Amino acid sequence: MRVLFLAAEAAPLVKVGGLGDVAGELPPALRRLGVELRLMLPFHRSIDRDALPLELIAEFEIDRNLLGLPAKVWRTNLTHGPVELLDGEPIRRAQGVYGDHEHELEKFLFSSMAALRACEAQAWKPDILHAHDWHAAFAVIWLASQRAGNAFWSRTRTLLTIHNLGYHGDESSSMLDAYGLSPPSSEAMPAWARNRPLAMGLAAADWISTVSQTYAREILEPAYGHGLEGLLRIRNDRLVGILNGIDQNIWDPSQDEALPDRFSMDTLDRRRAMKSALQEELGLPVDPQVPLMAMVTRMDHQKGVDLAFEALDGLHSKPWQFVVLGSGDVNLEALAREFGQRHPGNSRMILRFDPPLARRIYAGADMILLPSRYEPSGLAQMIGMRYGCVPVARATGGLKDTVIDETSGDSANGFLFGLAHADSLRAALERAFVAHANSSRWRALQETGMSQDFGWSRPAQRYYELYRTVASTLDHAA
Ligand code: ADP
Repeated sequence: MRVLFLAAEAAPLVKVGGLGDVAGELPPALRRLGVELRLMLPFHRSIDRDALPLELIAEFEIDRNLLGLPAKVWRTNLTHGPVELLDGEPIRRAQGVYGDHEHELEKFLFSSMAALRACEAQAWKPDILHAHDWHAAFAVIWLASQRAGNAFWSRTRTLLTIHNLGYHGDESSSMLDAYGLSPPSSEAMPAWARNRPLAMGLAAADWISTVSQTYAREILEPAYGHGLEGLLRIRNDRLVGILNGIDQNIWDPSQDEALPDRFSMDTLDRRRAMKSALQEELGLPVDPQVPLMAMVTRMDHQKGVDLAFEALDGLHSKPWQFVVLGSGDVNLEALAREFGQRHPGNSRMILRFDPPLARRIYAGADMILLPSRYEPSGLAQMIGMRYGCVPVARATGGLKDTVIDETSGDSANGFLFGLAHADSLRAALERAFVAHANSSRWRALQETGMSQDFGWSRPAQRYYELYRTVASTLDHAA
């Protein structure tokens, strides 16, 4: 089974959010199952060229308005396997990984085409193109319209994984023209979405997957479908949900060098020292009793950090501490600063991307808050549980598939609430504070979370089975 795995980011080379973790951790798990997998990424400016051993493995041109644009493919070997980096002027010109609206559409279109040409240049025919999110959808779109008459690609089938339906990519008709791509047509596609990369990819892909079973159902409804629910409903027979995993070696408090000390379920008492070290590092009063809540998150409306602020503003009477580690939306960052000023003695707003601090927060905080308005899979709750940090999460998407509410007896590992509303979160926090004050109850929640298997073996096995189904699909259904 040969799989071309195409994504915008993959840890440890480049990580902005959960997609980076997944594209970094799933490929090695699939290779362990015998999949011959090539992971390809754009060679973003932010990747440090000088720090990498690079081997040039292919050079070719990509047609834009009938002119050939030079492209190169570099291979680098990381500890968990090789990565192929797609390089060229349209990729190098764009600032950041995401968000450069002037250049990012072309960056991702160019890299999608470069990935396909790289396979041709190396005479490596994939059985499956596994494309992730809108950034890689262009390769799916090209294949859907071109493979019938193309001896090299005629047997390749496509799987498009939605990591976040909220990001469709910009209107791209002139860019499609320039690179000779034809948009697929589907009557279920709303007019506004006709030339948006994600929507086109969803119409063109042989199969679609998303990153939890609950999210796979939710996106068929207007409340979660971002306007694409009609299109997804007609593709529902080709839509599958597979929950993400976490690499249990990378996320392991008994081996984590970023922590002041190591601990496991058997030495959970040592976690107390993690909490005081974290309180000290953050300049918060060192107090083992006070519930220390945390969010480690992109600052985005999706994540509901504003709901957390509103819920906690109404919890003056009880002692609590709250740390937020996050960056992103400037308005939400401003809101966080204001919250920090309102609660200077017991909150810290750390507005940056800091993976080692994230680890110390998972290891030292009592609760990880996830008041997401939607959450395709969510990794922070799984990482939190692995580190003994109990999730308080909205019952949506992958959160609903991983967090089991405190009222569920022995299987409970956290707290769930129903509405994306501060009152609903506040009620869950009140319950969590009561449980936290009962040390044996709290320990049981931590132990249940820590003993859960969120590793990649199971999800990788399910992707493997899905790949077999996708590879044996005769014709695409769009
Ligand atoms: P999303 O993909 O929507 O951002 P996930 O929960 O799936 O959310 O994954 C987020 C990942 O990014 C987790 O590994 C989390 O620890 C990490 N992360 C988010 N914000 C930060 C930050 N400010 N510093 C360090 N790591 C972060």
